[in-house]
Amino acid sequence: ALTDEALLASVPTGLFIAGSWVEAAGGRTFDVVDPARGSVLLKVADASAEDGMAALAAAHDAQESWGRTGARVRAEILRRAFTLVTERAEDFARLITWEMGKPLAESRAEVAYGAEFLRWFSEEAPRISGRYMTAPDGVNRLLVRKRPVGPCLLITPWNFPIAMATRKIAPALAAGCTMVLKPAELTPLTSLLLTQVLVEAGVPAGVLNVVTTTSAAEVSGPVIADPRLRKLSFTGSTQVGRRLISQAADQVLRVSMELGGNAPFIVCDDADVDAAVDGAIVAKMRNGGEACVAANRILVHRSVAEKFTATFAERMAGFVVGPGSEPGTTLGPLIDERSRQKVATLVDEAVAAGGTLVVGGAVPVGEGYFYPATVVTGVTADMAIVQDEIFGPVAPIMVFDDDAEAVRLANSTQYGLVAFVYTRDLDRALRLTERLEAGMLGINTGVVSNPAAPFGGVKASGMGREGGAEGIEEYLETVYIGIRDP
Ligand code: ADP
Repeated sequence: ALTDEALLASVPTGLFIAGSWVEAAGGRTFDVVDPARGSVLLKVADASAEDGMAALAAAHDAQESWGRTGARVRAEILRRAFTLVTERAEDFARLITWEMGKPLAESRAEVAYGAEFLRWFSEEAPRISGRYMTAPDGVNRLLVRKRPVGPCLLITPWNFPIAMATRKIAPALAAGCTMVLKPAELTPLTSLLLTQVLVEAGVPAGVLNVVTTTSAAEVSGPVIADPRLRKLSFTGSTQVGRRLISQAADQVLRVSMELGGNAPFIVCDDADVDAAVDGAIVAKMRNGGEACVAANRILVHRSVAEKFTATFAERMAGFVVGPGSEPGTTLGPLIDERSRQKVATLVDEAVAAGGTLVVGGAVPVGEGYFYPATVVTGVTADMAIVQDEIFGPVAPIMVFDDDAEAVRLANSTQYGLVAFVYTRDLDRALRLTERLEAGMLGINTGVVSNPAAPFGGVKASGMGREGGAEGIEEYLETVYIGIRDP
């Protein structure tokens, strides 16, 4: 294994444009910081609008030839990328923990999950298909085929540094699209190492271009306004997503938006309470709560509330806070001080408004952006802790009296990404899931993310799906050719 220094030194720090690693115009760089220590890990290139346009030009120039490349060739490149990422899983995991903060075990799980998108879409690429049929009039023939939408701008968030990248890059490559990737400025290192690995796997020059920058809006604005761009895929906050959708309207760009969530986690009176606690721990604490699918509100039936809360609180109190690279750590730092302040304020305000702190709730002193696993009971639907996306290790618990109330509470938010239901009654589970407004539903499970499944939300949680058979469709256009009776 590489030493820490050697691994960091192996990460490319430039922009990747038209097959070359280059400096940003003017040689500008920015610091990538370890959230557990506040120290600088590496300096990487800080792209300007000019660099972004060079990346788009490269993607545009490569589109024709990449789009004509056989699907089998594209598939083999993706499959090789899967193998290479898997071989270097430990390097990726260490890098993710350094720049994002999560415990190493969780980073390893993310690498496996992220790599799987490369394998899944390697298998989807040769399945792109169409049809030839006779129209109902018995005369005309209809030919329907798919083609790549063209150059894409992919904007990713910091919470899953490899998986959010592969979830966009893999289907784009599989479909035959070229792209400009704009990784989150807080965690660009994983995307840079991934780019190196994808090049090693055979991705041709210009097909994948990467621009790291602290000026996201300045770089993405002109790219989105340029007619050479054909598609925008974004994962991040609803606030930024709304702005990007309106920018994309000018070019009538295809858009995929994976935005915020506010997942309800519903525990019915007939649930297996121990299983529900296990599920709630994962749904809340995976990625330290810094996930759009994180359980944001735990809704428990009054008859099991006491038992559930006691067991859940005990488990939450057992989380060990510390740097993700230290053995034994089960909860890493939040990504930055701004996030920690937001989480602490939500908790403080909920307690001031009548909520009860059961576990956690105190900002620790010392370096790093740590915040403890926290449980608050007695919260009400009007509180910000229930309305906003918490994005931290904080679980507000609410009590309900019947299924109708649970559904009403669950749906009373602008978001609609995922909902979790625990019950032993399958009819009831299906009835509830049909009434819940969410793009994804979990029955007796706290995790729904799966590369083979369509990930995405409704309402303000976005549009479009990533993963599954649906994932590649986001990068394909349907073309119909009408033919007269031959
Ligand atoms: P988060 O709150 O999770 O950091 P953001 O929506 O702020 O989510 O960021 C997600 C991604 O969007 C990041 O790559 C970030 O750099 C980028 N981003 C932020 N603001 C803009 C913007 N105005 N235009 C384009 N990209 C942006």
